[in-house]
Amino acid sequence: MLAVIIILIVGVPVVVYMIKSRHRRNNVAVLQDYKRRKKRRQPAEGAVSSPHHGTEGKKCSHCRKEAKHLTFYADDNGTVIGLCSACKPIAKRRDLMPL
Ligand SMILES: [Zn+2]
Repeated sequence: MLAVIIILIVGVPVVVYMIKSRHRRNNVAVLQDYKRRKKRRQPAEGAVSSPHHGTEGKKCSHCRKEAKHLTFYADDNGTVIGLCSACKPIAKRRDLMPL
């Protein structure tokens, strides 16, 4: 009987602590999730504030230099690549199909 009392005395605070700590961990997880969600939304807002993104600075798929005019070719894998005038010979050498 004494053992049962000791287990109750020692065990109950441990169980209460475990429940409390689990609860606290849940709160932290929720808070982190909230922060993450908030952070995830920020790039979208940045994209909205810079509408030029994607419309300017077309880059050559080969040399990665910005070019005013790109010629587009279909890769062997079906990937579309844009090449600047300097890289056009590469497309010819690789026998790429101009689009
Ligand atoms: Zn190029």
